[in-house]
Amino acid sequence: MRNLKEVGFLSVKRLASADLDMIEQKIRPSGFYHQKAARLKGACTAIESNGGLDEVFSLSERRLYQLLISINGIGRETADSIILYGAGKPALVVDNYTWRIVSRLYGSKVRYDYSALKSELEEKTRRSVRLYRNMHAQFVELGKKYCTKNNPKCVECPISKMCDYQKNRR
Ligand code: SF4
Repeated sequence: MRNLKEVGFLSVKRLASADLDMIEQKIRPSGFYHQKAARLKGACTAIESNGGLDEVFSLSERRLYQLLISINGIGRETADSIILYGAGKPALVVDNYTWRIVSRLYGSKVRYDYSALKSELEEKTRRSVRLYRNMHAQFVELGKKYCTKNNPKCVECPISKMCDYQKNRR
């Protein structure tokens, strides 16, 4: 980011028109720089060709999601993160922490389908940017502190009483 900033590339417009080799050079320390540079430039070009960032962020959530998901390198979780944090619109982000925690909480009742889990969580909650950002942060925190990939700390976990995984361990 510092490298990009130094050459004034921290803007969608500039990145869209920048030379690919130059972007590669600047982001080289982040690894996978060939692929990342091409995707970064491609995403910025797509945004520019749709009227620029302000125009794109003023689209409805649904249209914004469709546009983002059509861009090479942007998956569902990234699209929802851009909508929630970039555009400031209520999109619930389902990341690895969310999957792990929800699947342990509800066990076999959880279907491994991004859209299905997202819709289910959205149905159960008020649509709110603040709430969704908070939920995302809480899932990350819980996943890092207690519900770790290996050896989850169920005894100390604040939601252990409602967790299938913990009940089945006893
Ligand atoms: S009780 Fe254990 S498995 Fe359940 S959410 Fe907490 S840490 Fe994860």
